Formats: sequence, structure tokens, C-alpha cells
Amino acid sequence: MFGLFKNRPAAAPEAAASAPAAPAAAPAKPAPLHGLMMDRPLLISDILKHAAANHAGAKIVSVRADGSRVRHTWPQIAARAAKLANALARRGVQQGERIATLAWNEHRHLEIYYGVSCMGAVMHTVNPRLFADQLVFILTDAADTHLFIDPTLLPALEAVADRLPPTLKAVVVMGEAGSVPGQGKLIGKVELLSQEALIADEPDSIDWPVFDERCASSLCYTSGTTGEPKGVLYSHRSTVLHALTTLQVDCFATSAADVLLPVVPMFHVNAWGIPYAAGMAGCSLVLPGPRLDPVSLYTLFEEEGVTGSAGVPTIWTALLQWLRANPEKRFTNPPRFTVGGTALPKPINEGFLKEYGVRIMHAWGMTETSPLGAVNVRKAENIDWDEDRWLDYSKKQGRPLFGIELKAVDAEGHEIAHDGVAFGELLVRGNWVAAQYFNRTGDDVFTDDGWFRTGDVVTIDALGVMEIVDRAKDVIKSGGEWISSIELENTIMGHPKVAMAAVIAMHHPKWDERPLLLVVPKPGSNPTEAEILAFYEGRIAKWWTPDAVEFVETLPMTATGKVWKAVLKKQYADRAPTTLAHAQTR
Ligand code: AMP
Repeated sequence: MFGLFKNRPAAAPEAAASAPAAPAAAPAKPAPLHGLMMDRPLLISDILKHAAANHAGAKIVSVRADGSRVRHTWPQIAARAAKLANALARRGVQQGERIATLAWNEHRHLEIYYGVSCMGAVMHTVNPRLFADQLVFILTDAADTHLFIDPTLLPALEAVADRLPPTLKAVVVMGEAGSVPGQGKLIGKVELLSQEALIADEPDSIDWPVFDERCASSLCYTSGTTGEPKGVLYSHRSTVLHALTTLQVDCFATSAADVLLPVVPMFHVNAWGIPYAAGMAGCSLVLPGPRLDPVSLYTLFEEEGVTGSAGVPTIWTALLQWLRANPEKRFTNPPRFTVGGTALPKPINEGFLKEYGVRIMHAWGMTETSPLGAVNVRKAENIDWDEDRWLDYSKKQGRPLFGIELKAVDAEGHEIAHDGVAFGELLVRGNWVAAQYFNRTGDDVFTDDGWFRTGDVVTIDALGVMEIVDRAKDVIKSGGEWISSIELENTIMGHPKVAMAAVIAMHHPKWDERPLLLVVPKPGSNPTEAEILAFYEGRIAKWWTPDAVEFVETLPMTATGKVWKAVLKKQYADRAPTTLAHAQTR
């Protein structure tokens, strides 16, 4: 079927054998001595084949929209992925063709992850929380030919039906057989199909094609909270190496006996690679569907024996608050959590560890880094630190994983001192870091000497451990010096009356910018501004104390679960400082 796909070309014949003789003066360079090992490309299909062949006992549990659960095994997922690939091949899908998904974490999404990439096409995950304009932009930019969609998300697509790109040939609804609305109908000018009907009569096995490991496997757009979203095009090689690395003891520490529940969405950065890492380890997966509230998650943790999970801090903050409000709820076997996406506030980490025995690993990454780049896990120098010292240190984002190099540079491009104090912009390079964006050239975040400029402002300490001070665009520049909005947020999260907090810059006539603190109080707690600000005393430099506090009911969130500071900055553009005293004490 895929005449296009060929084995990677054999290595070129030894150049030296046929080259003309070198001039007598320059001694001929010896030909490279190649290792005599099999040269097999790193392909995602090998992960699926491995899981199906060796780990039939693991379970893939998937939660439906109504809360009921459906169970599969790795061989069943592999069979359904094969049926899907056969169906897409029958529809003429070619290598490199983009196949989009708008879906939650569930088994059909997992089958598309594997089926599409393993056949050589490109799985393009789209974030269902995007605005209509962003959705249209992304589908058009990627030139997707098929879009697989969860039935609950059809209304969002119908809203842009007349703006769907001309490349789109079919919208495939991922519901249960017989429950798919409007099969055979059109959405705009595009045919509406059912995934179950599409794969029903297809063979459940396939010879996955073998091709160059550098071929594209999946595509994910950056969240684009400022400017246009940009596509990051992962390769089979980068995906396999990333997943392999995350299995390490000093990362997810995944074994075949694990039961992993990715709260991190499969629509953003491949759910931190967990769907692939799980297949490699051969472990079980629990895919929670759209229900990510504390009750649903806790129920799954307990009933499915979850051993590990990953999510952004807002998920863990909500879970901790709910657990505390329901003291009879305990973990039979405390799972271990990974957190990333935004900084982990120490009180959340401390609460989980000391009250529930749950360990949280702090990780850092970006869409452009697949995403995992750094993890904060103990090493020789701090293995014997007591728990409290380690909890303090855990707010740092971590040290690079093997395969990733980090450095931080000042405004002149000089590397900063590794003293944990000097600030600089974080640059990364490595085997799973983007080298350019899809469909674009000339982005200056990719340096001429092969680094990616992250836009994160960091310190690096003597142990080589990096701490994010801020996003370059969020740092508060007060009188020529920098104040970390993240540090102010993390500190105030320890206040017993604070449920959520965000700090943004507001204009100041003398200091240019000063911090404005926005607080979502815990229900019924009614804190005062003075009470909140007093909490900072002795915890931060006095001149960092925010110049005003606003109490709000909610904070705007981005499509990837982060506080949307760009919106807050617009909203509070005219806010003036109320407590000028702090600024004047500098
Ligand atoms: P995204 O590409 O949408 O996944 O966002 C990547 C950005 O999220 C990074 O550049 C950081 O600014 C932020 N980020 C990721 N992990 C962390 C973390 N552990 N602590 C603080 N910020 C983080």
C-alpha cells in the first residue's frame, strides 16, 4: 500500500575507498570505522508492537463522557490502530499528510496517536479550548485532510463550519457505534463520518511501514497567547528518544507494573509523551476523558489503583483543597505526581507530602521541547537533605535530562554565573528540541549556533539546577530591577485564605512598573488587603511587596490551564498603585 515508504538508505560507501589519493604532504584521514550493529530506525510503530507483543496483561481504561469506563488491552489497541490505518490508507492518506484530532484523553485518541503516526501520516492534536479564530488558523496552517472529533466538541466545529480549510476532506466523529450524530451529513462542505463505521470492516492487522526515523510523526501548536500559534513538528526519532528518557528512575520512573493516569491533555504536547512511554514500559493507562474534577480523579486513582499521574498545578491545587474538605478520603496507595506547565507552589507540594504521603516531582518543558527538558530530582549533592530543606528546593524547575543541554545568558549573550542569583534567558538544545516551526522561517528564537531561546528568565545554581524567575514578558521591571511574579504568587499561595493568585505589572509613575496582586479568596474567607500583604513580611525582599491587591472571583485561564496574564494586563491596564509606601522603601 505504501510504495513511498522505504528503509532508510544504507550508509554511503566509504568515501576514502574511491577518493583520489591525497597530496603527499597531508596524511590521509582514516576512513571512519562504523560500528557493526543493526541500523534500525526509531519508529513509534515499534512501541506499539512491543506493547502488544509483551504486555497483554496491562489495561487501558477509558472514561466515557457519561462517566462509565471501557477497558482494552495493548493488543486490542494495536488491532484497532491497525484497522484505523487501513481505513485511512483506503481513503488515500499519504505519508506526511496531517490528520487532526479535537479530543479528550480516551482510547480512540490513543488509537489515532498510534494508527496515524505508525502509518507515516502526521497526527495533529488541536486544543478544544481554542477560540474559533485560532482553531480556523491552526486547521488551515496545518492543511489537515481529516479531523477526528469527540462528539461533545461538534458544536464548536459547527460554529466555524463555513471557515473550514479546503484541504479538509472529512470530519470523523469518535463516539460509540450507533451514537454518532449526523453521519453522512455535511459540516460546512465537509463530509461527516463515524470512526467506528470507518474502521468496522477493516483488517485488524497491518505491516507497519519502515521509513526514515526523522519523518514527522505529530504536530502541536504553541498556545499562542500572544501572536499567531506556531506549529511544532515532532519526528519519530525525537518522540521515541523523549519517551525513552522519561522512563528513567530520575524522571517518571515507569515500570511495567505502573498504572499511569495522564491528566495532562493528549491534545497538548502529546500528553508529555505518556502515551508513548506507557507503551514502551508496557504499563497500564487510565484515560480520564473530559472529567478532571477532584471527585472524578480521586475515584479513578482509588478504583483503578493509579500509581502515577501528571498535571498542571491547578489540578493538584483543586484536588488538595477537596481532600482537605473531605477528611475521610485518603489514598490507599499514594500515587506519585509530576507537575509542570507553571511553577509548583511549595504549600501544595508540602500539603500532599506531609498530609497524604504523595510525592510530587517538579518538571519543566515547552511545546518546543516535546515537552520534558528538566526535572527536579535529588542527586548526589542533596540526597541526604531533610524533607523540609528538599521541599524548599523543589520549587526549582530542575536539571536537564540526558539529551538536553541548558544554558542561561544575559542581555549581552554572556552565560550567567551558576550562583542561583544571576538572571538570564534560558536557551536549550537537544535531541527533542524544535529546530524551526512548521510552515515558517526566520524566527529569531532559533539562534544561528543551534540553540532555542525559551523566553524563560531563570537562575542556575551551583548544582546546575534551574529555577524560572518569570516569563520574560511577565517579569516586573521596577526601577530597573526585576521582581519575579512567580515568586510573589508562590509565596502568597501559602496564605490560608488564598485559593489562587496571579501577579502582573501595573504602571508606576516613578518606578515604571510595580506588582499588582490578584487574589481568588477561599470560599467564605474574606481576607483584607492588609492581611494579605502582611503575609509577605520576612518572606520576600520588602521592596518586592505588591503595591495593590485586587480580590477577584476567578482568573482567566489559557487553553493549556495557565493563568492568562495577557488578558489580566489588558484588564488592569489603568490600575494605579494604592500602597505606594512599599515602592518608596527601596
Ligand atoms: P507550553 O509551550 O504552552 O507548554 O508552555 C511552556 C512554558 O510553560 C515554559 O516556557 C514556561 O514558561 C512554562 N513552564 C513550563 N513548566 C514550568 C514549570 N515547571 N514552572 C514554571 N513554568 C513552567
